[in-house]
Amino acid sequence: MSAAVEFNDIEKVYDVGGERVRALRGVSARFERGSFWAIMGSSGSGKSTLLSILGCLDRPTSGTYRLGGRDVSKMSDDALSDIRLRHLGFVFQSFNLVQQLTVAENIALPLYYQGVSERESAERAKEFAGVVGLAGRLGHRPSQLSGGQQQRAAIARALATNPTLILADEPTGNLDTATSVEIMRLFASLHESGKTIVMVTHEPDIAEWAEHRLVLRDGLIVECA
Ligand code: ADP
Ligand code: MG
Repeated sequence: MSAAVEFNDIEKVYDVGGERVRALRGVSARFERGSFWAIMGSSGSGKSTLLSILGCLDRPTSGTYRLGGRDVSKMSDDALSDIRLRHLGFVFQSFNLVQQLTVAENIALPLYYQGVSERESAERAKEFAGVVGLAGRLGHRPSQLSGGQQQRAAIARALATNPTLILADEPTGNLDTATSVEIMRLFASLHESGKTIVMVTHEPDIAEWAEHRLVLRDGLIVECA
């Protein structure tokens, strides 16, 4: 079976006012289905650039990226947004919940975009709120939740479409230590249930929760195991 993620010799060059910034300088790796990876490296090493490419938010300048066996490196913007909606779940440092919507509505949002009926969306939102321990908070708005609860809601939203791959960029970056551990327990249980997870973090304690590490330095992989 194909890997969840396989990329070969990916380069990403940004043109900043005529100057070329080589954010990724030829990186290759393969992440098996059901694996849990931490992407590490100091600031500016290329972590977010790699995650944007893996998340189909950006394309590599050169190289290939296969997601679930499909080459997505040269797809159109529309095709990429469809892939994001159907196959990927995103978790961000700042949660990115819609403040005007309730927890249930936030979780159901990607289902709404997929055209799932209102009734089924509401049912699935309830189910995934339960998975992340927010069953009692369905009608709350993000501002009525703690940071940890907001991140749980964001994780439920990422899970609602049953994605192939969950991508998280510093998911505990805005949380205190105890809450970070709670969120990592949740990621660990998702991993146990068979989800493929790729998480960017610069914190070694957080990276310990993953089973594999990919370390970047100046746009190159210096460790991958
Ligand atoms: P990290 O997430 O590890 O801090 P990034 O992937 O954000 O690293 O950045 C890697 C390099 O690419 C840095 O030198 C950064 O300044 C540059 N870079 C990132 N995004 C852009 C962009 N949109 N335009 C120009 N340069 C960028
Ligand atoms: Mg970054």
